[in-house]
Amino acid sequence: MFFLVGLYHGYEKPCDSNDFLKDFIEEARDVVINGVEINNSNKKVIIHTFCTDAPAKSFILKTKGHAGFHSCTRCTQDGKYIKNRMSFPFKEGGYKKRTHDDYVNMTQELHHVSTLSDLIHVPGIDMVNSFSMDYMHLVCLGVVRKLINLWIHEPLRTRLPNWKIKQISSSLIHLKLYIPNDFARKPREIEFINRWKATELRQFLLYTGPIVLKKVISKNVFDNFMALSIAMTLLLRPDKMHDKIINYAENLLIYFVKTFQNIYGDHLASHNIHGLLHICDDYRRFGPLDLCSCFSFENFMKTLKSMLRKHEQVVKRNEEKCKNEMINTDFLQDVILSNEHCDGPLIENTCGPQYLRVEIKNKININTKKTADKYCLCDIAVAPPYGALGVERLRSCTPSPSPRLCSRMRRASSRGRSPTAVNQFTTHVRA
Ligand SMILES: [Zn+2]
Repeated sequence: MFFLVGLYHGYEKPCDSNDFLKDFIEEARDVVINGVEINNSNKKVIIHTFCTDAPAKSFILKTKGHAGFHSCTRCTQDGKYIKNRMSFPFKEGGYKKRTHDDYVNMTQELHHVSTLSDLIHVPGIDMVNSFSMDYMHLVCLGVVRKLINLWIHEPLRTRLPNWKIKQISSSLIHLKLYIPNDFARKPREIEFINRWKATELRQFLLYTGPIVLKKVISKNVFDNFMALSIAMTLLLRPDKMHDKIINYAENLLIYFVKTFQNIYGDHLASHNIHGLLHICDDYRRFGPLDLCSCFSFENFMKTLKSMLRKHEQVVKRNEEKCKNEMINTDFLQDVILSNEHCDGPLIENTCGPQYLRVEIKNKININTKKTADKYCLCDIAVAPPYGALGVERLRSCTPSPSPRLCSRMRRASSRGRSPTAVNQFTTHVRA
Protein backbone atom coordinates (compact mmCIF):
# COMPACT_ATOMS: atom_id res chain seq x y z
CA MET A 1 0.00 0.00 0.00
CA PHE A 2 1.20 3.51 -0.77
CA PHE A 3 1.01 6.49 1.55
CA LEU A 4 1.28 9.89 0.04
CA VAL A 5 3.96 11.70 2.06
CA GLY A 6 4.23 14.90 0.04
CA LEU A 7 2.80 16.54 -3.05
CA TYR A 8 4.46 19.59 -4.57
CA HIS A 9 3.41 21.99 -7.29
CA GLY A 10 5.31 24.53 -9.32
CA TYR A 11 5.79 25.85 -12.84
CA GLU A 12 9.53 25.18 -12.88
CA LYS A 13 12.05 23.10 -11.00
CA PRO A 14 12.99 24.49 -7.59
CA CYS A 15 16.40 26.17 -7.35
CA ASP A 16 17.58 24.68 -4.08
CA SER A 17 16.77 21.14 -2.98
CA ASN A 18 17.19 22.05 0.68
CA ASP A 19 14.37 24.60 0.36
CA PHE A 20 12.32 22.10 -1.62
CA LEU A 21 12.79 19.39 1.01
CA LYS A 22 12.58 21.60 4.10
CA ASP A 23 9.12 20.47 5.26
CA PHE A 24 9.81 16.85 4.39
CA ILE A 25 13.08 16.81 6.33
CA GLU A 26 11.43 18.27 9.45
CA GLU A 27 8.59 15.73 9.32
CA ALA A 28 10.91 12.85 8.47
CA ARG A 29 13.16 13.66 11.44
CA ASP A 30 10.12 13.72 13.68
CA VAL A 31 8.68 10.35 12.60
CA VAL A 32 12.07 8.60 12.44
CA ILE A 33 13.05 9.78 15.93
CA ASN A 34 9.64 9.51 17.63
CA GLY A 35 7.82 6.90 15.54
CA VAL A 36 4.10 7.12 14.75
CA GLU A 37 1.09 6.19 16.88
CA ILE A 38 -1.18 3.62 15.25
CA ASN A 39 -3.97 2.03 17.33
CA ASN A 40 -2.29 3.07 20.60
CA SER A 41 0.93 1.44 19.54
CA ASN A 42 4.13 3.27 18.68
CA LYS A 43 5.47 2.11 15.30
CA LYS A 44 9.07 2.63 14.31
CA VAL A 45 9.61 4.36 10.95
CA ILE A 46 12.60 3.62 8.75
CA ILE A 47 13.34 5.36 5.47
CA HIS A 48 14.18 2.43 3.27
CA THR A 49 15.07 3.83 -0.16
CA PHE A 50 14.97 6.96 -2.26
CA CYS A 51 13.94 6.02 -5.80
CA THR A 52 14.72 8.71 -8.35
CA ASP A 53 16.20 9.15 -11.79
CA ALA A 54 19.80 10.42 -12.12
CA PRO A 55 18.99 14.16 -12.50
CA ALA A 56 16.67 14.12 -9.44
CA LYS A 57 19.29 12.22 -7.44
CA SER A 58 22.04 14.75 -8.17
CA PHE A 59 19.56 17.58 -7.44
CA ILE A 60 18.66 16.15 -4.03
CA LEU A 61 22.23 15.18 -3.10
CA LYS A 62 23.69 18.42 -4.50
CA THR A 63 26.26 16.49 -6.48
CA LYS A 64 27.47 16.77 -10.08
CA GLY A 65 24.88 15.91 -12.75
CA HIS A 66 25.20 12.73 -14.82
CA ALA A 67 27.11 14.58 -17.55
CA GLY A 68 29.75 15.71 -15.03
CA PHE A 69 33.27 14.27 -14.64
CA HIS A 70 32.79 13.17 -11.02
CA SER A 71 29.12 12.30 -11.20
CA CYS A 72 28.98 8.63 -10.14
CA THR A 73 27.26 8.60 -6.74
CA ARG A 74 28.67 5.17 -5.87
CA CYS A 75 32.36 5.30 -6.81
CA THR A 76 35.16 7.77 -7.48
CA GLN A 77 35.66 7.05 -11.17
CA ASP A 78 36.29 10.21 -13.20
CA GLY A 79 34.58 10.57 -16.55
CA LYS A 80 36.54 11.10 -19.75
CA TYR A 81 35.55 13.34 -22.61
CA ILE A 82 35.77 11.15 -25.74
CA LYS A 83 34.37 12.15 -29.14
CA ASN A 84 32.32 14.98 -27.59
CA ARG A 85 30.68 12.65 -25.07
CA MET A 86 31.16 12.13 -21.35
CA SER A 87 32.27 8.50 -20.99
CA PHE A 88 33.11 6.21 -18.12
CA PRO A 89 35.37 3.51 -19.66
CA PHE A 90 35.57 0.22 -17.78
CA LYS A 91 38.58 -0.34 -15.54
CA GLU A 92 39.50 -3.81 -14.28
CA GLY A 93 39.13 -3.93 -10.49
CA GLY A 94 36.85 -0.88 -10.45
CA TYR A 95 37.28 2.30 -8.42
CA LYS A 96 37.09 3.11 -4.72
CA LYS A 97 33.48 2.97 -3.55
CA ARG A 98 32.00 6.00 -1.84
CA THR A 99 30.70 5.79 1.71
CA HIS A 100 28.28 7.84 3.78
CA ASP A 101 31.24 9.40 5.64
CA ASP A 102 32.93 10.33 2.34
CA TYR A 103 29.76 12.24 1.41
CA VAL A 104 29.40 13.99 4.77
CA ASN A 105 33.10 14.95 4.85
CA MET A 106 33.07 15.94 1.16
CA THR A 107 36.14 13.76 0.65
CA GLN A 108 36.05 14.32 -3.11
CA GLU A 109 35.18 18.01 -3.35
CA LEU A 110 34.72 17.89 -7.13
CA HIS A 111 31.81 15.47 -6.66
CA HIS A 112 29.76 18.13 -4.88
CA VAL A 113 28.12 21.17 -6.38
CA SER A 114 28.05 23.40 -3.32
CA THR A 115 26.85 22.47 0.15
CA LEU A 116 25.56 19.17 1.50
CA SER A 117 21.95 18.05 1.41
CA ASP A 118 20.04 18.64 4.64
CA LEU A 119 18.90 15.04 4.45
CA ILE A 120 22.06 14.22 6.43
CA HIS A 121 20.09 15.47 9.49
CA VAL A 122 17.55 12.64 9.16
CA PRO A 123 18.80 9.66 11.20
CA GLY A 124 19.36 6.37 9.39
CA ILE A 125 19.81 7.70 5.88
CA ASP A 126 22.97 6.49 4.14
CA MET A 127 23.65 9.34 1.72
CA VAL A 128 25.29 6.96 -0.76
CA ASN A 129 23.55 3.61 -0.56
CA SER A 130 20.02 4.68 0.47
CA PHE A 131 19.62 6.12 -3.04
CA SER A 132 18.91 3.16 -5.29
CA MET A 133 20.22 2.94 -8.85
CA ASP A 134 16.57 2.43 -9.99
CA TYR A 135 16.61 -0.04 -12.85
CA MET A 136 13.51 1.53 -14.45
CA HIS A 137 15.43 4.66 -15.43
CA LEU A 138 18.94 3.21 -15.59
CA VAL A 139 18.35 -0.10 -17.40
CA CYS A 140 14.97 0.13 -19.16
CA LEU A 141 14.78 3.77 -20.22
CA GLY A 142 18.58 4.13 -20.28
CA VAL A 143 20.57 1.13 -21.46
CA VAL A 144 17.91 -0.86 -23.36
CA ARG A 145 16.67 2.19 -25.27
CA LYS A 146 20.28 3.14 -26.03
CA LEU A 147 21.04 -0.34 -27.42
CA ILE A 148 18.02 -0.31 -29.73
CA ASN A 149 18.83 3.21 -30.93
CA LEU A 150 22.38 2.07 -31.68
CA TRP A 151 21.03 -0.79 -33.81
CA ILE A 152 18.76 1.56 -35.71
CA HIS A 153 20.89 4.69 -36.03
CA GLU A 154 24.61 4.31 -35.22
CA PRO A 155 27.48 3.51 -35.39
CA LEU A 156 27.86 2.19 -38.89
CA ARG A 157 29.58 -1.07 -37.90
CA THR A 158 26.67 -2.24 -35.73
CA ARG A 159 23.77 -0.52 -37.46
CA LEU A 160 21.22 -2.99 -38.78
CA PRO A 161 19.99 -2.79 -42.37
CA ASN A 162 16.43 -1.63 -42.83
CA TRP A 163 15.10 -5.08 -43.71
CA LYS A 164 16.38 -6.49 -40.41
CA ILE A 165 14.69 -3.69 -38.45
CA LYS A 166 11.46 -4.52 -40.27
CA GLN A 167 11.97 -8.23 -39.51
CA ILE A 168 12.34 -7.50 -35.76
CA SER A 169 9.22 -5.29 -35.84
CA SER A 170 7.26 -7.95 -37.66
CA SER A 171 8.28 -10.59 -35.08
CA LEU A 172 7.24 -8.28 -32.24
CA ILE A 173 3.83 -7.68 -33.81
CA HIS A 174 3.43 -11.43 -34.32
CA LEU A 175 4.06 -11.94 -30.57
CA LYS A 176 1.16 -9.62 -29.67
CA LEU A 177 -1.23 -12.57 -29.77
CA TYR A 178 0.73 -14.37 -27.08
CA ILE A 179 1.27 -11.55 -24.58
CA PRO A 180 -1.06 -12.13 -21.61
CA ASN A 181 -3.04 -9.41 -19.87
CA ASP A 182 -0.49 -9.37 -17.02
CA PHE A 183 1.47 -6.99 -19.21
CA ALA A 184 0.22 -3.42 -19.41
CA ARG A 185 1.14 -3.09 -23.08
CA LYS A 186 1.48 -5.27 -26.16
CA PRO A 187 4.68 -5.09 -28.26
CA ARG A 188 5.00 -2.32 -30.83
CA GLU A 189 7.24 -1.85 -33.87
CA ILE A 190 10.88 -1.17 -32.99
CA GLU A 191 10.83 1.96 -35.17
CA PHE A 192 8.72 3.60 -32.44
CA ILE A 193 11.46 3.04 -29.87
CA ASN A 194 11.54 6.67 -28.74
CA ARG A 195 7.86 6.43 -27.82
CA TRP A 196 8.18 3.13 -25.94
CA LYS A 197 7.34 3.33 -22.25
CA ALA A 198 9.58 1.84 -19.57
CA THR A 199 7.27 -1.14 -19.26
CA GLU A 200 7.67 -1.95 -22.99
CA LEU A 201 11.46 -1.73 -22.72
CA ARG A 202 11.34 -4.05 -19.73
CA GLN A 203 9.21 -6.52 -21.68
CA PHE A 204 11.69 -6.40 -24.58
CA LEU A 205 14.70 -6.95 -22.31
CA LEU A 206 13.26 -9.85 -20.33
CA TYR A 207 10.78 -11.60 -22.62
CA THR A 208 10.50 -10.67 -26.29
CA GLY A 209 14.01 -9.39 -27.13
CA PRO A 210 15.79 -12.75 -26.74
CA ILE A 211 13.24 -14.31 -29.15
CA VAL A 212 13.04 -11.66 -31.86
CA LEU A 213 16.75 -10.85 -31.95
CA LYS A 214 18.11 -14.38 -32.26
CA LYS A 215 19.58 -15.06 -35.71
CA VAL A 216 18.79 -11.47 -36.76
CA ILE A 217 21.62 -9.58 -35.07
CA SER A 218 25.24 -10.75 -35.12
CA LYS A 219 26.38 -13.29 -32.52
CA ASN A 220 28.60 -10.92 -30.55
CA VAL A 221 25.83 -8.28 -30.34
CA PHE A 222 23.29 -10.93 -29.35
CA ASP A 223 25.59 -12.42 -26.68
CA ASN A 224 26.15 -8.93 -25.31
CA PHE A 225 22.38 -8.30 -25.12
CA MET A 226 21.75 -11.71 -23.53
CA ALA A 227 24.29 -11.04 -20.78
CA LEU A 228 22.22 -8.03 -19.72
CA SER A 229 18.92 -9.87 -20.17
CA ILE A 230 19.96 -12.87 -18.04
CA ALA A 231 21.55 -10.71 -15.33
CA MET A 232 18.39 -8.62 -15.02
CA THR A 233 16.15 -11.70 -15.06
CA LEU A 234 18.11 -13.00 -12.06
CA LEU A 235 18.11 -9.68 -10.21
CA LEU A 236 14.34 -9.36 -10.64
CA ARG A 237 13.50 -12.80 -9.27
CA PRO A 238 11.10 -12.29 -6.35
CA ASP A 239 12.84 -14.90 -4.19
CA LYS A 240 16.11 -14.18 -2.44
CA MET A 241 19.10 -15.57 -4.35
CA HIS A 242 22.21 -17.31 -3.08
CA ASP A 243 25.39 -15.19 -3.02
CA LYS A 244 26.89 -17.31 -5.80
CA ILE A 245 24.02 -16.40 -8.14
CA ILE A 246 24.31 -12.70 -7.26
CA ASN A 247 28.03 -12.85 -8.05
CA TYR A 248 27.19 -14.61 -11.31
CA ALA A 249 24.76 -11.81 -12.23
CA GLU A 250 27.44 -9.27 -11.35
CA ASN A 251 29.98 -11.02 -13.59
CA LEU A 252 27.44 -11.01 -16.42
CA LEU A 253 27.02 -7.25 -16.03
CA ILE A 254 30.80 -6.74 -16.00
CA TYR A 255 30.98 -8.87 -19.17
CA PHE A 256 28.19 -6.74 -20.69
CA VAL A 257 29.97 -3.44 -19.94
CA LYS A 258 33.33 -4.69 -21.26
CA THR A 259 31.94 -6.18 -24.46
CA PHE A 260 29.65 -3.16 -24.96
CA GLN A 261 32.75 -0.96 -25.20
CA ASN A 262 34.46 -3.35 -27.60
CA ILE A 263 31.42 -3.52 -29.86
CA TYR A 264 30.13 0.05 -29.82
CA GLY A 265 33.18 2.07 -28.70
CA ASP A 266 34.57 3.59 -25.48
CA HIS A 267 32.88 6.92 -26.15
CA LEU A 268 29.43 5.31 -25.72
CA ALA A 269 30.19 3.92 -22.24
CA SER A 270 27.85 6.45 -20.65
CA HIS A 271 26.89 7.17 -17.05
CA ASN A 272 24.08 4.59 -17.34
CA ILE A 273 26.36 1.86 -18.75
CA HIS A 274 28.78 2.46 -15.86
CA GLY A 275 25.86 2.42 -13.38
CA LEU A 276 25.23 -1.25 -14.22
CA LEU A 277 28.41 -2.08 -12.31
CA HIS A 278 26.75 -0.88 -9.09
CA ILE A 279 23.31 -2.39 -9.47
CA CYS A 280 24.15 -5.69 -7.73
CA ASP A 281 25.04 -3.72 -4.60
CA ASP A 282 21.39 -2.63 -4.55
CA TYR A 283 20.29 -6.26 -4.72
CA ARG A 284 22.54 -7.08 -1.74
CA ARG A 285 21.08 -4.19 0.25
CA PHE A 286 17.40 -4.13 -0.80
CA GLY A 287 16.73 -7.57 -2.33
CA PRO A 288 14.99 -8.05 -5.71
CA LEU A 289 15.29 -4.87 -7.74
CA ASP A 290 11.53 -4.33 -7.96
CA LEU A 291 11.71 -3.41 -4.26
CA CYS A 292 13.85 -0.38 -5.02
CA SER A 293 12.62 0.78 -8.42
CA CYS A 294 10.32 3.59 -9.57
CA PHE A 295 7.91 1.20 -11.32
CA SER A 296 5.51 0.85 -8.39
CA PHE A 297 5.55 4.61 -7.72
CA GLU A 298 4.93 5.32 -11.39
CA ASN A 299 1.80 3.15 -11.20
CA PHE A 300 0.61 5.18 -8.23
CA MET A 301 1.17 8.36 -10.26
CA LYS A 302 -1.69 7.26 -12.53
CA THR A 303 -4.07 7.42 -9.56
CA LEU A 304 -2.78 10.83 -8.47
CA LYS A 305 -2.95 12.28 -11.97
CA SER A 306 -6.53 11.11 -12.44
CA MET A 307 -7.42 13.03 -9.27
CA LEU A 308 -5.68 16.14 -10.61
CA ARG A 309 -7.51 15.99 -13.91
CA LYS A 310 -10.84 16.13 -12.15
CA HIS A 311 -9.78 19.29 -10.25
CA GLU A 312 -10.48 17.55 -6.99
CA GLN A 313 -8.80 17.93 -3.68
CA VAL A 314 -6.07 15.35 -4.18
CA VAL A 315 -5.09 14.88 -0.56
CA LYS A 316 -8.70 14.45 0.60
CA ARG A 317 -9.58 12.02 -2.22
CA ASN A 318 -6.43 10.03 -1.56
CA GLU A 319 -7.28 9.78 2.12
CA GLU A 320 -10.78 8.47 1.30
CA LYS A 321 -9.32 5.98 -1.17
CA CYS A 322 -6.91 4.62 1.47
CA LYS A 323 -9.78 4.18 3.95
CA ASN A 324 -11.90 2.35 1.36
CA GLU A 325 -9.02 0.06 0.44
CA MET A 326 -8.56 -0.86 4.10
CA ILE A 327 -12.26 -1.58 4.53
CA ASN A 328 -12.48 -3.64 1.34
CA THR A 329 -9.41 -5.81 1.91
CA ASP A 330 -11.46 -9.03 1.94
CA PHE A 331 -13.07 -8.13 -1.34
CA LEU A 332 -9.66 -8.09 -2.99
CA GLN A 333 -9.36 -11.80 -2.38
CA ASP A 334 -12.65 -12.54 -4.16
CA VAL A 335 -12.77 -14.78 -7.16
CA ILE A 336 -15.08 -13.61 -9.93
CA LEU A 337 -16.36 -16.30 -12.30
CA SER A 338 -18.15 -15.13 -15.44
CA ASN A 339 -19.47 -16.25 -18.86
CA GLU A 340 -21.07 -19.48 -17.64
CA HIS A 341 -21.40 -22.30 -20.16
CA CYS A 342 -21.90 -26.06 -20.32
CA ASP A 343 -20.21 -26.89 -23.61
CA GLY A 344 -17.42 -28.98 -22.13
CA PRO A 345 -15.20 -30.81 -22.46
CA LEU A 346 -14.83 -31.83 -18.82
CA ILE A 347 -12.00 -33.81 -17.35
CA GLU A 348 -12.54 -36.78 -15.05
CA ASN A 349 -14.25 -36.25 -11.66
CA THR A 350 -15.50 -32.77 -12.48
CA CYS A 351 -18.94 -31.40 -13.26
CA GLY A 352 -20.50 -28.17 -14.55
CA PRO A 353 -21.27 -25.37 -14.63
CA GLN A 354 -18.19 -24.10 -16.44
CA TYR A 355 -16.96 -20.54 -16.90
CA LEU A 356 -15.00 -18.88 -19.66
CA ARG A 357 -13.43 -16.26 -17.39
CA VAL A 358 -11.99 -16.20 -13.90
CA GLU A 359 -10.59 -13.15 -12.19
CA ILE A 360 -8.81 -12.97 -8.88
CA LYS A 361 -8.82 -9.27 -8.11
CA ASN A 362 -5.44 -7.65 -8.60
CA LYS A 363 -3.78 -11.02 -9.13
CA ILE A 364 -4.80 -13.21 -12.01
CA ASN A 365 -7.18 -12.74 -14.92
CA ILE A 366 -7.78 -15.80 -17.10
CA ASN A 367 -9.88 -15.56 -20.26
CA THR A 368 -10.26 -18.83 -22.18
CA LYS A 369 -11.40 -16.96 -25.30
CA LYS A 370 -7.97 -15.41 -25.79
CA THR A 371 -4.90 -17.46 -26.68
CA ALA A 372 -2.60 -15.36 -24.52
CA ASP A 373 -4.84 -15.37 -21.45
CA LYS A 374 -5.94 -18.95 -21.11
CA TYR A 375 -2.80 -20.44 -19.58
CA CYS A 376 -1.44 -20.13 -16.09
CA LEU A 377 2.28 -20.35 -15.37
CA CYS A 378 2.79 -22.76 -12.47
CA ASP A 379 6.02 -23.66 -10.75
CA ILE A 380 7.03 -26.39 -13.16
CA ALA A 381 4.50 -26.40 -15.97
CA VAL A 382 1.85 -24.50 -17.84
CA ALA A 383 -1.63 -25.35 -16.54
CA PRO A 384 -4.26 -26.53 -19.06
CA PRO A 385 -6.89 -24.17 -20.43
CA TYR A 386 -9.37 -23.44 -17.68
CA GLY A 387 -12.31 -23.43 -20.13
CA ALA A 388 -12.07 -27.19 -20.20
CA LEU A 389 -12.32 -27.55 -16.43
CA GLY A 390 -15.43 -28.18 -14.37
CA VAL A 391 -16.32 -25.67 -11.71
CA GLU A 392 -15.25 -27.89 -8.81
CA ARG A 393 -11.81 -28.25 -10.29
CA LEU A 394 -11.75 -24.58 -11.19
CA ARG A 395 -12.64 -23.54 -7.66
CA SER A 396 -10.04 -25.82 -6.18
CA CYS A 397 -7.46 -24.30 -8.50
CA THR A 398 -8.15 -20.61 -8.29
CA PRO A 399 -9.07 -19.20 -4.87
CA SER A 400 -5.71 -19.68 -3.20
CA PRO A 401 -2.87 -19.62 -5.68
CA SER A 402 0.51 -20.17 -4.07
CA PRO A 403 2.31 -17.00 -3.01
CA ARG A 404 5.08 -17.98 -5.39
CA LEU A 405 2.67 -18.22 -8.29
CA CYS A 406 1.13 -14.87 -7.43
CA SER A 407 4.48 -13.21 -7.15
CA ARG A 408 5.51 -14.70 -10.47
CA MET A 409 2.39 -13.42 -12.12
CA ARG A 410 2.87 -10.02 -10.59
CA ARG A 411 6.49 -10.00 -11.63
CA ALA A 412 5.47 -10.90 -15.14
CA SER A 413 3.27 -7.85 -15.28
CA SER A 414 4.98 -4.59 -16.02
CA ARG A 415 2.70 -1.66 -15.59
CA GLY A 416 5.23 1.13 -15.37
CA ARG A 417 4.51 4.52 -16.88
CA SER A 418 6.80 7.11 -18.33
CA PRO A 419 8.64 9.30 -15.83
CA THR A 420 7.18 12.70 -15.09
CA ALA A 421 8.41 15.76 -13.29
CA VAL A 422 6.00 15.13 -10.44
CA ASN A 423 7.66 11.91 -9.33
CA GLN A 424 11.19 13.20 -9.20
CA PHE A 425 11.09 12.93 -5.50
CA THR A 426 9.34 9.88 -4.12
CA THR A 427 10.19 8.13 -0.91
CA HIS A 428 9.55 4.58 0.02
CA VAL A 429 8.70 4.67 3.69
CA ARG A 430 8.35 1.39 5.52
CA ALA A 431 6.48 1.69 8.81
ZN1 LIG B 1 30.69 4.30 -10.18
